[in-house]
Amino acid sequence: MTFEAELRKGNFQVAECTNCKKTVWPPSDFCNQCFKEIHWRKCANEGKIIEFSKQNNYYFCLVEFENTIKVIGKISSGIPNKDQHVRIKRCGMTDDNYFFEFSLI
Ligand SMILES: [Zn+2]
Repeated sequence: MTFEAELRKGNFQVAECTNCKKTVWPPSDFCNQCFKEIHWRKCANEGKIIEFSKQNNYYFCLVEFENTIKVIGKISSGIPNKDQHVRIKRCGMTDDNYFFEFSLI
């Protein structure tokens, strides 16, 4: 899928319906509302922390982008807070898993 190919290159792309303009998440080649085709666009680079936890000296956060898209990633440094804003520092894929690293803003 385009989503994974782009993520592998470090580009976080999201699917948007060409018909109803809905952002389709999880990524799919068709709209999950009207079943029309989608196009790929760059996701907003800034998101908000929904929740976080600490594992082996690293903080992992669930971050929401565009009030729709939720992904889990690692905080590169600092201590996160709920509702704090982050930017995507790095993203990609390791094996078959999505990988995100965020910096606190
Ligand atoms: Zn649609």
